[in-house]
Formats: sequence, structure tokens, C-alpha cells
Amino acid sequence: MEKETFISKEEILQALKENNEKIFERADETRKVFCKDEVHIRGIIAFSNYCCRSCLYCGLRKENKQIFRYRMKPEEIVKVACEIIQNGVKTVVLQSGDDFGFSRKTLVEIINKIKKGNNVAITLSVGEKPFDDYKAFREAGADRFLLKHETSNQSLYGKLHPGQSLKERLKSLEYMKKLGYQIGAGNIIGLPGQSIDDLVNDILFLKEFDVDMAGIGPFIPQKDTPLGNYPAGDLNLTLKFLALGRIVTKNIHLPATTALGTLNPREGQLLGFKAGCNVIMPDFTPEDYRRKYVIYDNKVPVTLKKAKKIIIEAGRKVARDRGDSLKRSDYAKNT
Ligand code: SAM
Repeated sequence: MEKETFISKEEILQALKENNEKIFERADETRKVFCKDEVHIRGIIAFSNYCCRSCLYCGLRKENKQIFRYRMKPEEIVKVACEIIQNGVKTVVLQSGDDFGFSRKTLVEIINKIKKGNNVAITLSVGEKPFDDYKAFREAGADRFLLKHETSNQSLYGKLHPGQSLKERLKSLEYMKKLGYQIGAGNIIGLPGQSIDDLVNDILFLKEFDVDMAGIGPFIPQKDTPLGNYPAGDLNLTLKFLALGRIVTKNIHLPATTALGTLNPREGQLLGFKAGCNVIMPDFTPEDYRRKYVIYDNKVPVTLKKAKKIIIEAGRKVARDRGDSLKRSDYAKNT
């Protein structure tokens, strides 16, 4: 059984600074207790790369004139979602830039169509919206919402996200919790200007905010952004962060992210699984659009086939259920 997993702020700081393989063993033990050997697969559709925000690190920022913008048609989105379901994947993740070109009504219709007759979970990752939109999407059947906090350092958040504030983002997450969404936050490791103390606070934030899932990945530069010349986040630091995230939060869903696979295409995501991860998110976006969803450079394509290969390599198996929150028993009925 898992050992006592209380870990102090000082211990987290120390563990992030040193290289001690023991934290990976401990994270793996914790993962085994709370998530067993099952890995949940979530199929992503990046349906629009239009964005009204100016995040300094992201290739989708509205100031970037170098990318070709696209919006998938609602019927295309539903068609790809059906493919995901036919492939036995039980979560569809609808992701886009913060695109107000998709009305509330259109997104509600898409959600309705995907949910109709299917025991599939929908995760939205569409950024900050008016509260009435979150409500309408939830009523239409959206189950989860991923809105990463990006960094828990308020002043750094302000610098990296002109016109946005961490407080407002967290208000959205609080509201979604009230609406009954399973919520996901998460942060970027290695952002220019970020300190090790910030990372400690990110781990504690995930615990205190009581998230159901966390998307955690390294910063990867995108050449047409103001941060295009900064170095990528460090692989080992990201893995240590994931391990500590698992040890501290215990029962959240933790994806081995595509950004991790991009940093080290040979084994980044495999190492993520060994550091406490239990989720992988292959990309089902049609090729022509996928190439244009350039949030960072050299993004590796993670197909369903590749995801399954990594799961087997890690000695795990594909989960059969939807992989709802491990924290809230009321979701058990959906599995
Ligand atoms: N617009 C939605 C939102 O803000 O939640 C979702 C789309 S956004 C492109 C998805 C995530 O990409 C962000 O939460 C951010 O963490 C990540 N991202 C963007 N640029 C990145 C970069 N250069 N390196 C690593 N992650 C990045």
C-alpha cells in the first residue's frame, strides 16, 4: 500500500531542485493506488485556431499574422467526434483558441449532436467565455472543462497574458465547479520569468483548488511570438513536477501531454507515464487543420495508434470506462 504521502512545501522545493529518482518511484506507487494500471484516452479535435487573446507564448495569439486561420464546420466537428467514438475512445475534447466566431448556439448544437445516443464524455477547452455560455454548454451535456491556470504567479500571469488576469480565470473555474463540471487546470513549466518557487506554488494550487485533472507541460517556443527566442522548458524538471503533482494531489487525472512528447519525441510521454501520468490525448484533428494549429513549433503528432503503443510500452492497459473524476462519486453512474 501507499506510504504516508504528506509532503511539505520545503520538501517539494527540495525535490524540484535535486535529482532523486525516488520521487518517480513514489509517484508511480501513488498512481497505482489511485488510478490502477489503466490509462484513459481522450480524443482531441482542435476545431478553430482563431483567438482573440495575446498570450505572449502562444502561436494562436491574435497578433500572429504568420498562421493560416481556420474554423472547422459544425458538421465536420461532429463527424470527427463520431470517428473518435467509433474508435472506442470515450472522451471527446473540443479545443480551440478563444474564438467568439463560434456562437453559444452553435457550440450547444455541436455538443447536443455528439452526446445524442452516445455514452461519451465531452471536455471543453475553449478558453474564457461569458458565464452564461458555461451554463448553456453544461446544460447541453458538456461534462468537463479544461482551463489551465498557466502560472499561479499573479504578476507573471499578468505579464504573459495582456488584458487578462489570473483572478478572472479562477473565477471562471470556480463557477464551472458550481455548475457541476469536472474541472481541469494546469500550468506551463519553464516559462520565461518563472521561478522554482512559482512551480512549488503551482503544485500547491492544484491541491488546494481541488481540481479533477491537470494539463501540465513544458514551455515550447513558437518562432512568431514575442517569446520565440527563449529556451524550451526542461524535460527533467517537467517530469519531477508531474511526479510531485501526483504525490501531492493523489487522485487527479494527469495526462502525459503532447508538449512532453514534443520535447523528447522518443520517450517523453513514456517517461510521463513513469512519473505518475494516467491519461493520453491523441489528436484526431484532420491533417489539413492540424498543421495550422501551431500553438508551439515542431508539435509531434500523437495518433491513436501511437498512444496505444506508448501505453503498452509503459506496461499499462487502455481503460474501458470514460475516466470521469476520481474525486466525485456522482460521476460513477456515467462510467
Ligand atoms: N484557448 C483555450 C484556453 O486558453 O484554455 C485553449 C487553447 S490553448 C492554445 C491550450 C493550451 O496551450 C494553453 O492552455 C497553454 O497552456 C498551451 N500553450 C500555448 N502555447 C504554448 C507554448 N508555447 N508552450 C507550451 N504550451 C503552450
